[in-house]
Amino acid sequence: MFEIFGRKVEPGQKVFDYCHVGYLAGNTECRIGYGVFNGVKEGPVLTLISALHGWEPMGTEIIRRTFLDVDPKDLSGTVVVIPIANPFSMEFGGTAESSGLQINPADSLNLNRVFPGRGGSGWLTEQLAHLYTEEISRVSDVVLDYHDGTSSNNMIPLVTFLAYEPELGYQADLAARTETLAKAMGAQVGRRIEGDAPDSGNISAALGIRGVPTMMLSVAGLGQVDENVDEGIRCTKNLMKAMGILEGEVDRPEYQLYCSGPQHKVLLTTAGGFFYPAPGATLGAWVQQGQEIGVILDPLTSEVRETLRAPFKGILGMFRGKMVTNPGGMVGHLANLEDYYWSLGTLPGSEDSSLV
Ligand SMILES: [Zn+2]
Repeated sequence: MFEIFGRKVEPGQKVFDYCHVGYLAGNTECRIGYGVFNGVKEGPVLTLISALHGWEPMGTEIIRRTFLDVDPKDLSGTVVVIPIANPFSMEFGGTAESSGLQINPADSLNLNRVFPGRGGSGWLTEQLAHLYTEEISRVSDVVLDYHDGTSSNNMIPLVTFLAYEPELGYQADLAARTETLAKAMGAQVGRRIEGDAPDSGNISAALGIRGVPTMMLSVAGLGQVDENVDEGIRCTKNLMKAMGILEGEVDRPEYQLYCSGPQHKVLLTTAGGFFYPAPGATLGAWVQQGQEIGVILDPLTSEVRETLRAPFKGILGMFRGKMVTNPGGMVGHLANLEDYYWSLGTLPGSEDSSLV
């Protein structure tokens, strides 16, 4: 018998339910929807949590679609899903309909910065973090936390994972176990983060110090159901296969490129204005060092305020789809094709580099 949030689930059973968290000042209830797919056979427990940031709802959709054709009778182990972990941040704020916020509008806190949270008299966001830290670490062997490119960018799969250095207090074998899973997920781009302390406030660090390998999958965006959602499903099922929960071979992409530190770069604008991508700069494409990837134009005069260029030869694993751009807006992510620490398959642009 599996039990989470006080609810018992029999082997072979699938349930959807809600966990009551509390009430706001006007008696609006805060409750969290969750699902449990409890396999008939014994096995590990995987928890999938999404929309810690409500302006990133694509993980919610990836989880929903992943389990449309999963029968718990075929599973060896258990999958817990928490598809909308920060409901008010999806529901309120934003600029058009429910385009959401990064923070929780109930207390203006960023849920993925307050882990492990605070029970009892904590702010609502801290109470949510406390609930997740306690319940998820109690039941889970592995956790996957979904993010996406928000309404400004789209993404091919990027798995981010902490190096879990023992000198920071993490278990000695945690880094190796996490990295093995992160590679088996089959994301095209990976990013290993070093030096992340257990008190840094994100869910990966808070669960890591409790011995639970936790990875972040960032994929899709623009609130758009496209092939990147399918890619997110592929990576999710790969993780279930790598853990032995789902039968079958891991489904690898054409290439995988995993970076660490400055080998992976977030590209930001300096100027505000309207963004237009350059020819050849598209999501998933590889670009040469110095290649123009887009411009920021003055929307009145058409003057070019900023020309954005690739700082190195790399893959645009994230790319902007939104025209109106604020100063400091995200134009994309670039993974270095000449300086990385692990790869598999045929990297794009590799024929070209062999000529150099
Ligand atoms: Zn996020």
